[in-house]
Amino acid sequence: MTKSVFKFGGGTAEGDAKQKELLGGKGANLAEMAGIGLPVPPGLTIATHVCAAYYDAGGKLPDEVARDVLEALAFVEGVTGKHFGDASNPLLVSVRSGARVSMPGMMDTVLNLGLNDVTVEGLATASGNERFAWDSYRRFIQMYGDVVLGLDHYLFEDALEIAKEDKGVTQDTGLDAGDLKALVGRYKAIVEQALGWPFPQDPHEQLWGAIGAVFGSWRSDRARTYRRLNDIPESWGTAVNVQAMVFGNLGDTSATGVAFTRDPSTGEKAWYGEYLINAQGEDVVAGIRTPQYLTKAAREKAGAKAASMEEAMGQVFTELGRVFDLLEGHYRDMQDIEFTVEDGRLWMLQTRSGKRTAKAALKIAVDMVAEGLISEAEAVLRVEAAALDQLLHPTLDPKAPRDVIARGLPASPGAASGAVVFDSDTAEQKARAGEAVILVRTETSPEDIHGMHAARGILTARGGMTSHAAVVARGMGRPCVSGAGSISIDMATRAMSCGGRRIVEGERITLDGATGDVMLGEVATVEPDLSGDFGALMVWADKHRRLKVRTNAETPADCRVARQFGAEGIGLCRTEHMFFEPSRITAVRRMILAEDTAGRAAALAELLPEQRADFAEIFRVMAGLPVTIRLLDPPLHEFLPHDDAGFAEVAAATGLAESLVRRRIGELHEFNPMLGHRGCRLGITYPEIYAMQARAIFEAAVLVAQETGEAVVPEVMVPLVATPRELEITKAVIDAEAATVFAETGTTLEYLVGTMIELPRAALRAAEIADHAQFFSFGTNDLTQTTLGISRDDAARFLGPYVEQGIYPKDPFVSIDEDGVGELVSLAAERGRGVKLGLKLGICGEHGGDPASIAFCERLELDYVSCSPYRVPIARLAAAQAALKRG
Ligand code: PEP
Ligand code: MG
Repeated sequence: MTKSVFKFGGGTAEGDAKQKELLGGKGANLAEMAGIGLPVPPGLTIATHVCAAYYDAGGKLPDEVARDVLEALAFVEGVTGKHFGDASNPLLVSVRSGARVSMPGMMDTVLNLGLNDVTVEGLATASGNERFAWDSYRRFIQMYGDVVLGLDHYLFEDALEIAKEDKGVTQDTGLDAGDLKALVGRYKAIVEQALGWPFPQDPHEQLWGAIGAVFGSWRSDRARTYRRLNDIPESWGTAVNVQAMVFGNLGDTSATGVAFTRDPSTGEKAWYGEYLINAQGEDVVAGIRTPQYLTKAAREKAGAKAASMEEAMGQVFTELGRVFDLLEGHYRDMQDIEFTVEDGRLWMLQTRSGKRTAKAALKIAVDMVAEGLISEAEAVLRVEAAALDQLLHPTLDPKAPRDVIARGLPASPGAASGAVVFDSDTAEQKARAGEAVILVRTETSPEDIHGMHAARGILTARGGMTSHAAVVARGMGRPCVSGAGSISIDMATRAMSCGGRRIVEGERITLDGATGDVMLGEVATVEPDLSGDFGALMVWADKHRRLKVRTNAETPADCRVARQFGAEGIGLCRTEHMFFEPSRITAVRRMILAEDTAGRAAALAELLPEQRADFAEIFRVMAGLPVTIRLLDPPLHEFLPHDDAGFAEVAAATGLAESLVRRRIGELHEFNPMLGHRGCRLGITYPEIYAMQARAIFEAAVLVAQETGEAVVPEVMVPLVATPRELEITKAVIDAEAATVFAETGTTLEYLVGTMIELPRAALRAAEIADHAQFFSFGTNDLTQTTLGISRDDAARFLGPYVEQGIYPKDPFVSIDEDGVGELVSLAAERGRGVKLGLKLGICGEHGGDPASIAFCERLELDYVSCSPYRVPIARLAAAQAALKRG
């Protein structure tokens, strides 16, 4: 039979810290502390699996578990020398929840259990403190009434208020033992009146009631919501800890406190915490009294008067410090600790790995390597990769007040403040004049590229995490909040409204791209601090990493940023982004609107030198590192206007008749542009476009190779291939251009031609496609869109409830859908490598910067991941962690 109840205390324990799944985090750590001889009040833990058994039995504790609880309770009595329900020296217990991971405040707790009309007298005598005993009894009835009996807590609070009014006092402490005794009578009457039976006097009945309530609270609405938000499975269940009470409120030699062994916000190696003399733990948490500092240094630094624990309770403080050191050494991590001092004696109530900011995580990991506590590999595993984001962008000053007016998707991290502008030209003008602006658009289109670049931050009312705005903003490192549905923009009055407020152009707002918050006015920010710790951790990460990390970038500036962050090449240069430049858009439009090959050729001839210069500059910046350039993949509508004013403007700029512009745009209209004439389909129907791009690539490569005398190996990538024949045809165009350029220049270069795998058919037919490809790059944005049949630009509107209901565990555009899209990736990798050993494999969808997806890529042994420049350090760390976890 599986063991369900585990004892701890008195220098022994039946469990340890490794058993969190079984004992819950709290129970496992209490057992661990007891096992290493720390002063832990004795108790018992009912294992997490009993939670399911409790529900299966219709809300009842199985008989054999109840029997084991009683046996363990006898052990607690033995250690404390007190007896449960004893009239002269009663044992009181706390009953608390404890899931595998902490769910702060989400489940129920009952303290002082075991008190009744008889034991309260015993407690008064044993403690020599009658007021304390009656106050404990009063608190117990109130807590038990609320948590176990389901009575409204205000019934008790009202009675307490009346008692204080009658006595003419404002504080609870103004009530003496007699008053509290009368109040207990009142409380009991409230219970009896509400339920029709008296408050349970039998301590065992109280115990079963409280255990049931804690198990029951696992399924409370708030616990369920918390689990949903934090990806905690329903099936885990909570453990229940029943532990002998110790009291920090027995007088001036008693106290209670919480502490971190290092500063959780900076990581500094200094004890950090608070305590209160003559108080219970709840008093510290509830903020009724202002807690005092633990150390003299912290008190002096804060300029506080009230004595620190170091000063007021020197001896216990020394002992506490010894315990801190011991716990840190034992767990080899920063600990978050709760303790109580009962009449001069220290008791440890909890320890766990402390939550910390990214900055603190980094410092603590690096310091602990220097202190010899952990290895470099462990340090690499200690810092959450995604949290590095906090360190790479300016962030909002946590102390600054904020007035949140709307909320959208956290599309690109960082924080920015500026004046609202509603179009890209205005953004550019104002930015040029030195003004910080936030570009606010219903959605962005490629034509906004200059405005996005000029703006400090971008806010859109529509669009998901892989929408144009989101992808481009992340690439540029601009903070972006996308899909803020409550915003509506009125271009006529140049104002936006959200949540009943109206904001006109020029008013200042602040974006937090890490949370999706939009705030009115300016909120102070703090700059990233990429100090030595960051560099040290990255060096260690790189030692353990197998996957290469490349970047998705198409401007020399972005390439430089990416290299500074450690990118080892370009995995995706989206050439259409280069076409959006205002100086080129007219030629691009002329090319699209051309009615014949000659017209297109003329427009392409204008673009060729510009493209060549772009590629040459990128090859220079990347200095011999691999550069994958993707041939044009634009949904054509993105380049074309949609209204009369736009038609007229394009006609004027291109010199074409407005009627022709209108007709051609009508002809080019597509119902589903994402599934339309884009990618290699464009290269198949208009081979001259890809020919021009290939020529530009090879000419640039030859130019830079001649300039530097070093090898440049371009990787030319064909998008949106579904069939081998598509690749075969386009590859022939590329190869022909290469041959021509090499003949013209008298220089021959090595180059690769490969394809994106971003359609399910391509994944399925990967073996035949590999015949024509030297590499595959998984375009998981389109592959997700086409596998799930969900538009990447519209998904945000309905994916929320999908994730909430567990249909997809996470947003599949953010973290790869391993079961579906992942299977296609895995199959394509296998089929491709099956025919071509050593076929180079990478990923360049947004998933290339997501730690969970990177771990997936590591398991498939892809060669590289490619992500936006600001995610490169995250990918390096995540790749190292994935490799270390694979072992
Ligand atoms: C993709 O589809 O994953 C990809 C990288 O291409 P894009 O996002 O440009 O469609
Ligand atoms: Mg794509």
